[in-house]
Amino acid sequence: MDEADILIIGAGVIGLAIAAELSKKYKGIVVIERHNSFGQETSSRNSEVIHAGIYYPKDTLKAKMCVEGRSLLYEICQKNNIPFKKIGKLIVASEKDEIPALEELFQRGKDNGVDDLRLIDAADLKKIEPSVNGVAALHSPSTGIINSHKLMQLFQDTAQNNGAIMSYVSEVIDIKKNVYGYIVMVRNNNETIFLNTKVVINSAGLDSDRIAEMGGIDIEHFNYRLHYCKGQYFRVNHSKSHFIKRLVYPVPKPKSAGLGVHATLDLCGSLRLGPDEKYLNNRNKDYSVDSSQKNNFYSAANRLLPFINKDDLYEDIAGIRPKLQREGEDFRDFIIQEETDKGLTGFINLIGIESPGLTSSLAIAKYSTGLVGNLIK
Ligand SMILES: Cc1cc2nc3c(=O)[nH]c(=O)nc-3n(C[C@H](O)[C@H](O)[C@H](O)COP(=O)(O)OP(=O)(O)OC[C@H]3O[C@@H](n4cnc5c(N)ncnc54)[C@H](O)[C@@H]3O)c2cc1C
Repeated sequence: MDEADILIIGAGVIGLAIAAELSKKYKGIVVIERHNSFGQETSSRNSEVIHAGIYYPKDTLKAKMCVEGRSLLYEICQKNNIPFKKIGKLIVASEKDEIPALEELFQRGKDNGVDDLRLIDAADLKKIEPSVNGVAALHSPSTGIINSHKLMQLFQDTAQNNGAIMSYVSEVIDIKKNVYGYIVMVRNNNETIFLNTKVVINSAGLDSDRIAEMGGIDIEHFNYRLHYCKGQYFRVNHSKSHFIKRLVYPVPKPKSAGLGVHATLDLCGSLRLGPDEKYLNNRNKDYSVDSSQKNNFYSAANRLLPFINKDDLYEDIAGIRPKLQREGEDFRDFIIQEETDKGLTGFINLIGIESPGLTSSLAIAKYSTGLVGNLIK
């Protein structure tokens, strides 16, 4: 039987960030990933936005990890030449009756420690973004964009240089507790391998609830079950990319699963709309983009960005949010927990790591390292 001290399941941005951080302190780290390279699921199917931390209720993990993670991310990007741009963002009210919600977001952001937000009126909005329509806006200068592939590459390189082992094409299929810690059963091609480990870190994204279940947790009782919510993107004709300089978001609707279809720019200056929100009634990872949604994207964008015509839109990618709340349910926070109280000492679950997971990755890695520190001296 092979041995590890710490076994991390999943090589998305979260598993990799944790591997990089832990490897500075610990040996015997193995990362298990079912695909043949890192970031093949949600971590490469997102908006690549470094969020400021505006939307999340005060004192939640989402708020704290986002605000802390954002600063850490800018710092690591600068130090390691990871491409990023702090281009800023506008949340735009297109009707007067959205202004109270904008003011609430302003206050919420301030409560979370986002101290550079500014409420601006229609005239100021026209000055900084002449092509955007709106009656008022919330300006967040510290929002940015990042090359998430390069970030993940850095995390993997750091972990490997410090001795961590990456095991690709390896799928965790079962986990059993024993006196030593855990025996993790892994399928690698046609072989089944058993790995003994003291600590299991479950950063398996869309399947993190299943991994928790394999570990012996009643995921219904503890409310750990995930619900898939798809988000599709449409790309905008390149000739329209120069019309805006900042990310442009609508005011989010209460209880909506996402932030509303918004306009993001990538590091090449290319403009995209999305993601929309559609809860799936199965667990298929279907990343196709439904071309019939073009009309909906057009009308969502048209209110704020009148320079976009329907013919400018092309289907792009889709991602799937691993959501803890069902459709219409209230806010749920990230679950980042060591499970001693469930009789599973050394089992650390990270479940429901949807947005702002990318922004939060370094803060989550530090937090998780703290949880491991209580287990391995
Ligand atoms: C549409 C969309 C837009 C988003 N936009 C943003 C944004 O702009 N900014 C932001 O901060 N966040 C954003 N997010 C959130 C962010 O993308 C995620 O929080 C983050 O990528 C989650 O990373 P992860 O490592 O937890 O999951 P993943 O990237 O899904 O990685 C999990 C890994 O675990 C592996 N795995 C699962 N089960 C097993 C198994 N049994 N054995 C072995 N391996 C396994 C998978 O193959 C996968 O590689 C967005 C998310 C979506 C869906």
